[in-house]
Amino acid sequence: MSKALDSSPSTNCKVCGRPSFPRSYLCPFCRALKKRGPRKSDNKARWRAMSSQWDPDAGAYRCYYTGVKLLEEGRSPRSVTWEHRVPGDESSVVLVAELVNKMKAYMTEKEFRRMVRELSRRFDGQPFSVSAFPSSRR
Ligand SMILES: [Zn+2]
Repeated sequence: MSKALDSSPSTNCKVCGRPSFPRSYLCPFCRALKKRGPRKSDNKARWRAMSSQWDPDAGAYRCYYTGVKLLEEGRSPRSVTWEHRVPGDESSVVLVAELVNKMKAYMTEKEFRRMVRELSRRFDGQPFSVSAFPSSRR
């Protein structure tokens, strides 16, 4: 469930509920996560992704594509990363596992889904359709 962005300071993080960074509405981790990456990020899109992908029962963010719990500490294939469903479009950001992000590379979400389905068919013994490749590299 995505809430409207209310950036007034609070004692506890408005995403995960952990103690907030001083005079912030986010805890140190969520604050750093939200700031990670390009300067011209889309604040509302990031808030939307963070608030909808935080799983309070799991106490973790969930990967947009796989649903697995994302890891905050250390470097792991499941480390939390920002991903663009549409490459270069900051309004399309979601949180995904680092390895899934690398697998998707510069494909759009639609292209990625097509490629993964085609790979799965290939792994099941079917021929791979070259048309599953994106038409151009971004
Ligand atoms: Zn937090």
